[in-house]
Amino acid sequence: MKLVFLGAPGAGKGTQAEILGKKLGIPAISTGNILREAIKNGTETGAKAKSYIDAGQLVPDDIVVAALKDRMAEPDCKAGYILDGFPRNIAQAETLEKLGVKIDLAVSFELADDVIERRMTGRRVCSGCGSTYHIEHNPPASEGVCDKCKGGLSQRADDAPATVRERLAVFHEVTEPIKGFYEKAGILKLVVVQEGVDATSKTMFDVLGLN
Ligand code: AMP
Repeated sequence: MKLVFLGAPGAGKGTQAEILGKKLGIPAISTGNILREAIKNGTETGAKAKSYIDAGQLVPDDIVVAALKDRMAEPDCKAGYILDGFPRNIAQAETLEKLGVKIDLAVSFELADDVIERRMTGRRVCSGCGSTYHIEHNPPASEGVCDKCKGGLSQRADDAPATVRERLAVFHEVTEPIKGFYEKAGILKLVVVQEGVDATSKTMFDVLGLN
């Protein structure tokens, strides 16, 4: 089963991708996490991506596609995967087709911009394993510490208010039209984001017929 998760930054699709991935026994692949990891490790990909990410802009397609191809070639991807944050524009959706990747379902997480702006300021990310939390909606058991790897939690630089607004503008302009691409293919499902992670998961399972 191959799925893509669409939605504005901060809509919670990363958290839901991890939850659904566990239920289906397939990995959730976040291109944002791959790029941030590359920056942390000081790789060539990371060096190329950093300025775009810091400015809230999309990283050029060739860089992201190369990183994603490497990840999709790993053995745990054989039974399928959830792509979280890819595709981000129509060209990337077409690239998946050209690569022979047949997407079974596209799931779009729907949430109003003003709610997103508030949510993003509360987001915290583990510097160790990349897991995401929210100080209100999905807090770690111990403040500032990752439940999974005990790494330190911090706010991403691109979750700063001005960058968040830029990322939302980019989302509406170039990412949102992808919904039409998958709607035409007859595989688009909409999940209205609820208050709280569990309620949203339940809605997602309902929409996907998994309850
Ligand atoms: P995310 O964690 O998915 O919000 O991604 C963080 C940042 O990484 C984005 O604001 C982009 O700069 C970059 N990024 C992640 N995925 C992609 C993609 N598919 N195409 C281009 N840039 C991406």
